[in-house]
Amino acid sequence: MTDWIARDEARVWHGFTQMSTYSDNQPIIVERAEGHELIDVNGKRYLDAISSLWVTTLGHRVPELDAAVVEQLGKVAHSTLLGNGNRVVIELAEALTPLVPVEDPRFLFASDGAAAVEQALKIAFQYWINQGITTRSTYLAFGGAYHGDTVGSLSLGGGGFGTDMFDPLRFPVLRAPGFADPDAFVTAAKLLRARADDIAAVVVEPLVQGAAGIISAPPEEFAHLQEACDDTGVLLICDEVATGFGRTGTLFASERCALTPDIMALGKGITGGYLPLSATVTSGRVATEFLGEDLGAKTLYHGHSYQGNALAAAVALRHLELIEEWDVLANVRARSEELGAMLDAAIAPLDAVKDVRLEGLMCGVELHPGDKNGRRVCAAAVERGVLLRPLGDVVVLMPHLTVRTEHLERIVEALEGAILEVCP
Ligand SMILES: *Cc1c(COP(=O)(O)O)cnc(C)c1O
Repeated sequence: MTDWIARDEARVWHGFTQMSTYSDNQPIIVERAEGHELIDVNGKRYLDAISSLWVTTLGHRVPELDAAVVEQLGKVAHSTLLGNGNRVVIELAEALTPLVPVEDPRFLFASDGAAAVEQALKIAFQYWINQGITTRSTYLAFGGAYHGDTVGSLSLGGGGFGTDMFDPLRFPVLRAPGFADPDAFVTAAKLLRARADDIAAVVVEPLVQGAAGIISAPPEEFAHLQEACDDTGVLLICDEVATGFGRTGTLFASERCALTPDIMALGKGITGGYLPLSATVTSGRVATEFLGEDLGAKTLYHGHSYQGNALAAAVALRHLELIEEWDVLANVRARSEELGAMLDAAIAPLDAVKDVRLEGLMCGVELHPGDKNGRRVCAAAVERGVLLRPLGDVVVLMPHLTVRTEHLERIVEALEGAILEVCP
């Protein structure tokens, strides 16, 4: 039986996807990949212009990363971190230590970005309880924020994406404006100072709100938040799940924003897009508040079965080395400038285009609202051999961090053709 779409539709439930119309939307069924291209079951090639939903960094089937997985397989695939350790996980934590903008960092690993955020929330909450302070129990988050789909991370999120029916499950948070509001950070800082005694932590996506539609704020605005945290003791949680590992042109976007988070969430690109791994990074100061008696109340009673998976850690470790060896960040910055120029020339002037936003190699092309325009433009791009997926009316371009000029040309050409076809 070779009707892969029918077989897929019958048994595989896809996230954020209406399964009754799944097959009508021409899904591609990937069999393998090479470099920047995915190859489907019929042998057709697609340029992966969304980095497989923002996770792939150096491309697919990178020989060095493949080898790191294979080499670790020769040792052990997984062993639990609950009460015990694993050598390659220690090596990864040590390699990350000088790179993360967190002071004296500690790493609590998990497998998904949402779990890293969830862990951050629980750590921030218990941080105060462990000091005998029970009133600091709420969070400040931003309008339009996205932090994942578990109930805790969904509570922090600004809503939307058809998840409103979960509102009764979401716990209330204090809400600052979204990044599109020029006063977002002044307002957030005021709220934070006014309500500091109730707030455990503020959670922010540094530099760019990704799922909101790639909306960035001026880096210097984040100083208002850092100052308010410094003055009030409210913990600063930076969600770098999307922005981490070079996506915006620095290893972490917190660096650009001069932020020193107390807690940071990492995910997506941490393994170069190879295996599910995430991490909640806390400062030594935060971690110290959890020290106490064996089996005592100060312990963090949280952990996942696949925490610190050894295969994932091995590939994450090699990935860090390659970012450095290949000077990936320089490529991100150079290609970002090129992409910006290409978009200015070919995409921004189109009547159907409302706005073009670019930060490093995170890009949103916002179309004027229309009948599923985002969806239809992306489908037309896929027809042209470039895999895109929209966020509503925003077509997201998220190329691999190692792309070359010719790939960007292919992406922009396909996008231009797609927009002209769908919105003539
Ligand atoms: C994708 C994302 C998450 C959730 O990560 P998952 O691995 O999909 O659970 C959290 N925060 C941000 C900023 C993200 O972009």
